[in-house]
Amino acid sequence: MANVQFANIRKSFGAHPVIKGVDIDIADGEFVILVGPSGCGKSTLLRMLAGLENISGGEIKIGGRIVNTLPPKDRDIAMVFQNYALYPHMTVEQNMGFSLMLNKAPKAEAEKRVKYAAGILGLDKLLDRYPRQLSGGQRQRVAMGRAIVRDPEVFLFDEPLSNLDAKLRVAMRAEIKELHLRLKTTTVYVTHDQIEAMTMADKIVVMHDGIVEQIGTPLELYDRPANLFVGGFIGSPA
Ligand code: ADP
Ligand code: MG
Repeated sequence: MANVQFANIRKSFGAHPVIKGVDIDIADGEFVILVGPSGCGKSTLLRMLAGLENISGGEIKIGGRIVNTLPPKDRDIAMVFQNYALYPHMTVEQNMGFSLMLNKAPKAEAEKRVKYAAGILGLDKLLDRYPRQLSGGQRQRVAMGRAIVRDPEVFLFDEPLSNLDAKLRVAMRAEIKELHLRLKTTTVYVTHDQIEAMTMADKIVVMHDGIVEQIGTPLELYDRPANLFVGGFIGSPA
């Protein structure tokens, strides 16, 4: 029932327009990647969906409901950030359970959800560790765990792998895809890395300077790029 819709979305910072009329439809359970060069507006679009940025024009819907002015906590989404933003003074278990505690979830339910997420992510044995005692990949998993425990309608990822080394990045792509196959949660994922987009997405949205150049499956973009920009971007090395 997630079904995320951007309809003629616009955003300006002061007099400077950075999103110039974007339309995207995302079906329930789809893994959609927003890709494009640095500064094209990917994070801004994701932050508007998350409710972290005001919308200058147009409508965003989640599950058929217009969410333009809803606060983030009422949108049934969970976001995984680039720099993980883990709480250094909390254990893995506390990091994962914190948002549930804030929302006053019953303790037994919170523990159950944290255990479930830890199991999926292979963190069972690390629940008492602190972030500084974890590897980069493990921290990444904790950040995902914090999103999973909330059982949201939509996962949002903003360049979650860009701080990892190349080898780990490739491994984590596969992990995130497996997670999606398992949970089937609608996902909107931002990256500037076209290889990541081509290997992970059900559907790719190619952005350039505040507009959408093309939307399609990886195969469609590869076979029939709509224009020179898409062809050049998809065809360029990582
Ligand atoms: P991307 O994530 O694709 O790299 P962003 O969405 O971060 O791009 O940024 C799009 C444009 O909006 C850039 O030109 C950026 O400088 C500008 N921008 C982003 N956030 C702000 C802000 N808070 N104030 C002013 N300009 C911003
Ligand atoms: Mg960004």
